[in-house]
Formats: sequence, structure tokens, C-alpha cells
Amino acid sequence: MTKTELLYTGKAKTMYATDDPDVLWVEYMDQATALNGKKKVQIPGKGALNRQISSLLFEELNANGFATHYLKTLDDTTMLVKKCAMIPLEAVVRNFASGSFERKFHAAHLQPLVPAVHEFYYKSDALDDPFINDEQIVALGYADKATLVAIHAMSDAVNGYLKARFAQIGIDLVDFKLEFGRLADGTLVLADELSPDNFRLVDEVSGRSLDKDVFRKDQGPLQPVYQTVLDRLKGAQHV
Ligand code: ADP
Ligand code: UDP
Repeated sequence: MTKTELLYTGKAKTMYATDDPDVLWVEYMDQATALNGKKKVQIPGKGALNRQISSLLFEELNANGFATHYLKTLDDTTMLVKKCAMIPLEAVVRNFASGSFERKFHAAHLQPLVPAVHEFYYKSDALDDPFINDEQIVALGYADKATLVAIHAMSDAVNGYLKARFAQIGIDLVDFKLEFGRLADGTLVLADELSPDNFRLVDEVSGRSLDKDVFRKDQGPLQPVYQTVLDRLKGAQHV
């Protein structure tokens, strides 16, 4: 398999076409961004860590019967995935109050949210990824109702798996963002990335953040924090 044309340079990954029209070549970059790209630095090793954490979690989800885009790992920073027509939504799931939810409602930090809260954001850098509700999504033609029901069910199932997986290694899964796409045959799959760039993770004992909040809030170097997450996941494979 070789990469051919550069398709897209995002904030965290570079996507290439390959000689197989159904397969994309994904390179994880060392770049870290926050505030919709306004804060941007290079963190050596971050790309490799996020690729490793993503590969490990996608492999586990595939093995547990979840439909995902993940195919295989090529090297430290590169994986192959099934090409999708992406649904332009960020599906956020929250188990505890944090981030924008905490700010919006003045909720107590890490207040448990039962049942888990699902939110959609419309993926648009120009609009700063605005919140969007189900009717707005359907009316604007970004997804139909049945797709939203399927995304809700898949997000809940992924949350169940990941919550248990992180609990096993002493970490609370506070919230996370998923993206979904459709394969050429119409199958809905979990796509994009599964890493501490897109999850909020809190150590159950120390209460420390083990995710991109360390970068967002200037709490120190990010690389050792992501390494801790990877080491713990590797130390206790599979639920
Ligand atoms: P961003 O676009 O937010 O800056 P990234 O740097 O992570 O994010 O770029 C990766 C891009 O690739 C995202 O736009 C994401 O929606 C898209 N993508 C992820 N998985 C797939 C896939 N399997 N097929 C097509 N596009 C994908
Ligand atoms: N998130 C993400 N990409 C985004 C916005 C949010 O991966 O563009 C993730 C974020 O890491 C967190 C969850 O979605 O795990 C909820 O984020 P929130 O709405 O609280 O946003 P923020 O605090 O970043 O404003």
C-alpha cells in the first residue's frame, strides 16, 4: 500500500489517498491546538502516542463487534482506515460535568450526569463548531433522523465500553467526542480518532487531568501524560 494524493491537512492529522480507492492513509501529527486552532504548538511524540492509543482502542472495539473505520497500523504515526463520507457532526458524550457544559450551566465540576448527556456540534472551523440540535441537523440535511438514532445508540455503546475500560485502569472517562461516517456500501462506522485529544480523562486517585486539558490549561508537559494513558492501557489489555 502506498500513499498517493494529499487529501486534507487538519489540525491533528494529515489524510492521504492510497492506491486502493476505499482506503485512506492517516498520519498523526505532533501539532496540538486549542481554542479552535488559535493556540497551536508542536509537541514532539504526541502524534505517535495518539496513533498508538487510537490503534489500541480501535482494535479492541473492532474485536468487540463495533463497526469502525480502522484497518491496520503501518508505523509509529500512520494507520490505514476505510474511507468514509463523513457526517459533519461532533457527537459529544458526557458522564460528568466539565468544559463547555460546566461553563454553560454553572454546573458543579465533575458532577455526575445520569443518564449520560449527548450533544451534537456542527463541524465547521469558520463557525467555531456551533451546538446543533436534532431538528436543525435534519432540516439542514446533515443527517436524517434514523442516522441520528443509530449514532446515539453507537455512542452509548462506545461509552459503555470505554467507561469500563478506563475504570479498569483507575481513570474516569469524563466526556469525549466521536465522529461517524458512511462506507461506500452505506454502513455507518465510527471514524476519526480515539485519543486523549478527544477525551477528558481524570485520574481516580489524584484527580489529575490525563488529557488535552493539560495543554488547554497550561498545566505542564503533555507528552508524559499521554504516555501514562498508553502505558496503563497496555498494562491491562481488554475488558
Ligand atoms: P480537524 O479536521 O478537526 O482539524 P484532524 O486533523 O483530525 O481534524 O483531521 C482529520 C479529518 O479527517 C477530519 O476532518 C475527520 O472528519 C476526517 N476523517 C476521519 N476519519 C475519516 C475517514 N475514515 N474517512 C474520511 N475522512 C475521515
Ligand atoms: N472535543 C473535541 N473536539 C472539539 C471540541 C470538543 O474532541 O472540537 C472534545 C473535548 O476534548 C471534550 C468533549 O469533546 O472531551 C467536550 O468538549 P466541550 O464541549 O466541553 O468543549 P471545550 O471544553 O473544549 O470547550
